Amino acid sequence: MAIEIKDKELKEMFEHGLYFHGHLCPAMPLGLRAGLLALRKLRVGRSQDKELMLLAETAEGHAMACFLDGLMMATGCTYGKGNVKKLRYGKLAFTLIDRKGKRQVRVNVKGEFVLNALKTSPFIAKRKAGVPPQEVERELAEMAVNKIINLPEEEIFNTGEVTPIEPKPAKGTFEAYPCEGCGEAVYAKWIRVKDKKFYCIPCSGYKE
Ligand SMILES: [Zn+2]
Ligand SMILES: [Zn+2]
Repeated sequence: MAIEIKDKELKEMFEHGLYFHGHLCPAMPLGLRAGLLALRKLRVGRSQDKELMLLAETAEGHAMACFLDGLMMATGCTYGKGNVKKLRYGKLAFTLIDRKGKRQVRVNVKGEFVLNALKTSPFIAKRKAGVPPQEVERELAEMAVNKIINLPEEEIFNTGEVTPIEPKPAKGTFEAYPCEGCGEAVYAKWIRVKDKKFYCIPCSGYKE
């Protein structure tokens, strides 16, 4: 068995996504499909800068949290650019905001799909038994991925209505100062003042 992806865009995303994500698992491609679906609903392309904002409802330490890496890959919303926020609701859902078009859409993986996967997926059974994803038999992982790739969208996702919003402006600072303690550059907003001198947060002794 091999992974077969007919859709050219998804295939390309999958190859890059796999490289970025680090292991073969079904949750990353699940995120790819969900992200591509949301882009299509909003009729926008991948975020080159901060045109889009992703509010992910996933958290850490639960099955299928890898979903978010697929979402980031597909939408171009990344941690570095700062247009991803984790809401940590422990849900396989997200809202994608089109800042320019002032619209948003929420997509969630269907409840029965998640619960069924947790009960019946041989890949997840291995993970539950403590096998790291990269050590699960290749055939099981490929089977799980092929299932995600080939299932009709409407069997996996619920898609909300596209609704209007008023996004907050995103403006970065270019102003930085040297820290009196370590000499490293600190952006203005994160400077802390002690005895009328500028410090970075760790050197200042303040918690934040
Ligand atoms: Zn994964
Ligand atoms: Zn410092």
